[in-house]
Amino acid sequence: MNAPESADVLRQHLIDPEICIRCNTCEETCPIDAITHDSNNYVVKADVCNGCMACVPPCPTGAIDNWRLVLKADAYSVDEQLGWDVLPEQGTTAALAPAAVDTSSAAASTPDNAIDDPSPEVDTVRGSTVPPWSAAKPYVNLYAHKAPVKATVVGNYRLTDEATESDIHHIVLDFGTIPFPVLEGQSIGILPPGASADGRAHHARQYSIASPRDGERPRYNNVSLTVKRVTQDHAGGATVGVCSNYLCDLKKGDAVDVIGPFGSTFLMPNHPDSHLLMICTGTGSAPMRAMTEYRRRRRLKGATGKLLLFFGARTKEELPYFGPLVNLPKDFIDTNLAFSRTPGQPKRYVQDAMRERAADVAQLLKDANTYIYVCGLKGMEDGVLQALKDVAERHGLNWETLWQTLKREGRLHLETY
Ligand SMILES: Cc1cc2nc3c(=O)[nH]c(=O)nc-3n(C[C@H](O)[C@H](O)[C@H](O)COP(=O)(O)OP(=O)(O)OC[C@H]3O[C@@H](n4cnc5c(N)ncnc54)[C@H](O)[C@@H]3O)c2cc1C
Ligand code: SF4
Ligand code: SF4
Repeated sequence: MNAPESADVLRQHLIDPEICIRCNTCEETCPIDAITHDSNNYVVKADVCNGCMACVPPCPTGAIDNWRLVLKADAYSVDEQLGWDVLPEQGTTAALAPAAVDTSSAAASTPDNAIDDPSPEVDTVRGSTVPPWSAAKPYVNLYAHKAPVKATVVGNYRLTDEATESDIHHIVLDFGTIPFPVLEGQSIGILPPGASADGRAHHARQYSIASPRDGERPRYNNVSLTVKRVTQDHAGGATVGVCSNYLCDLKKGDAVDVIGPFGSTFLMPNHPDSHLLMICTGTGSAPMRAMTEYRRRRRLKGATGKLLLFFGARTKEELPYFGPLVNLPKDFIDTNLAFSRTPGQPKRYVQDAMRERAADVAQLLKDANTYIYVCGLKGMEDGVLQALKDVAERHGLNWETLWQTLKREGRLHLETY
């Protein structure tokens, strides 16, 4: 019910299938499960959405911010939306003139002003929908599906031990003279060539940038990615992930269609006294690498900002960037590794490592200069939030109050996929 029951007309909330990169952020954010998807599209259920706008600021592409006045009886069904390749135009019949929209009910109090007032309902989402106050201003959506930029592969290296099944690659893409300004924490979209079985062009997949704003190689116009080759679906069945396999198989000199950049909240603070509490698994290390490397390149004399990293993988051999990570100076970054499948060892997850370091985590939680970043597999989010809650409460902090503060101040950033 995007508009009230009594009206003939409703302002229907729709997602633009041409821009949407199927990142699932909106579905996770919606507090009342009004968003669903299939292998083709993300769509909004007209009879459930109340126009609260919680999903709009976190959407990295803006695809979510589309609204059409429709006769209530003609509202686009979920099935119709799932079949779309493009958004329908706004209809023009007299009944759809704005005056025909009844704004009398509670449900209408947000949708009608929603387009002009994108302020998020921060309570409905688990992480921040605003960036840190000192973050640099990001560029977003410079290149879209219809006009992607061509990047050239200048490096593609396997990061994980050859003996493991986990095949994670470090891929460097160069933009030559084409502007592609990025910040740590942002992501890009890759358009894999080809089409799915039904003949539709493959949709874009999103990848976090693993290099700092001044390039994988300083002062070069390039970015790096950390890509895991998907060979199993979430249920463990054999599959060949379209984009991850395409990327992992790229050779030096190949051209890749890139869109973006995306992301305007999962950004690092620029003030040097800020602390970064980074918690990641697997390829979730990509944004942490970007932020860490930026801080390393700009180590400022006298700065008091600390870096505390919790990094999980199944084994040491499956941990991307293991070598460089353990070689970073201890007075620069405090690194805590957790392995869940080391033969002969008990399972240890990032949240276990956080609890072991509870006193240090709590000290950071008490500090208004602390910014928390969580990135990796979707399954980690609950455990990490629970660990933060446990640590906070064991050290006399009210987690519910602190959580709201962290979200409101752009100090708790979650990106899981
Ligand atoms: C904000 C954001 C940032 C991301 N950053 C990264 C990154 O830095 N590195 C990275 O490797 N990926 C990242 N991803 C995931 C990436 O976008 C793709 O989803 C992933 O590479 C799989 O795409 P695919 O085309 O290979 O698989 P698809 O062809 O889309 O999927 C094939 C099958 O595998 C399942 N599947 C999809 N992803 C996974 C997975 N990760 N594990 C197990 N099964 C899966 C699907 O459900 C499907 O059944 C990110 C996603 C988001 C939303
Ligand atoms: S791009 Fe926006 S609309 Fe598409 S799935 Fe992500 S959050 Fe939802
Ligand atoms: S506007 Fe609110 S109810 Fe509607 S889809 Fe977005 S988050 Fe859900």
